[in-house]
Amino acid sequence: MIDAQGLTRRYGEFTAVDGISFTVDEGEIVGMLGPNGAGKTTTLRMITGFLPPTDGHLTVGGKNLFTDPVAARREVGYLPENVALYPEMRVSEYLRYRAMLEGLPRGQAKPRISETVRSCFLEDVENQIIGTLSKGYRQRVGLAAAILHHPSVLVLDEPTVGLDPKQIIAIRELIRELGHKQTLLLSSHILPEVELLCDRVIIIDRGRIVAEGSPQDLQESWLGNTILRVELKDGPGEAPEVLGRLPGVVAVETLAGEAGFYRLECTQSADPRQAVFEAAKERGWILLELAREQASLEDIFVRLTTQEPGAGSELGEVFSAPREEEPS
Ligand code: ATP
Repeated sequence: MIDAQGLTRRYGEFTAVDGISFTVDEGEIVGMLGPNGAGKTTTLRMITGFLPPTDGHLTVGGKNLFTDPVAARREVGYLPENVALYPEMRVSEYLRYRAMLEGLPRGQAKPRISETVRSCFLEDVENQIIGTLSKGYRQRVGLAAAILHHPSVLVLDEPTVGLDPKQIIAIRELIRELGHKQTLLLSSHILPEVELLCDRVIIIDRGRIVAEGSPQDLQESWLGNTILRVELKDGPGEAPEVLGRLPGVVAVETLAGEAGFYRLECTQSADPRQAVFEAAKERGWILLELAREQASLEDIFVRLTTQEPGAGSELGEVFSAPREEEPS
């Protein structure tokens, strides 16, 4: 549904998006993550036809954005980062205006607006002046305008930025619902949000894709060795040696000053939790805690995107460590 190949955008000498390739399938929710200035908005603006790419190949909803830009743009609904609305218009007027811009026939526009007002929970403010709405409601109006013409592809740039927690929950529910019906690409700085909403994540840094996969795949690929946290009552003296001999355990770290706390480094595929439990049972140790540490999407994001320009090969080492395949 979105097919971008070698997508590039240069501003003069500066390359903001550097030949990225990715696809988003029908009914998929994909999140684009990246630090400030990574090129997310530039990418989204190219996909929505607001910014011409310098190079590459791009189809949206099966329409080629280079050779058939008008048809391609019709396939897309776009919620920009700073949604521009007409503050003096009423919500209903604005949606009628947008329906007209999208070329919806009069007979279709009325029921479509009612349906969209309902699905974006705007009934209470339908006749309110946009300038008097709260930020959360304005965001919902922006979303309503983006989905009014039933686009096959929905692109949302930071859809929950600046909203309060209640509004965030409402918008997320709406996004999840929409994502089941449409192809959805969103950008966000909020990592738990991406983890919660997205089937797949694309991490971009300085205009390039540095990792791609489902949040779970990314966690597994970037986790490195598995870490188990073990707590034994009174810290039996032989525990480090016994734990260190268990299959899959590479190293045992005794936490300084904390009797009975151990950190077990295990090979990536190993899960010696049962063996730890049995070793404790056999020796009459009292097991107070046994937990596997998971890398969060945040850990992965920080690891992939914190290298300063010209800071050497740390990123290269991260790439070569736990992965089977190079990221595209
Ligand atoms: P943020 O998370 O801060 O919104 P982003 O990932 O969306 O960042 P972009 O807005 O796509 O990043 O910008 C990517 C790079 O391109 C930045 O270095 C930015 O300064 C630069 N850039 C964007 N628009 C222009 C422009 N019109 N002219 C020159 N450089 C630009």
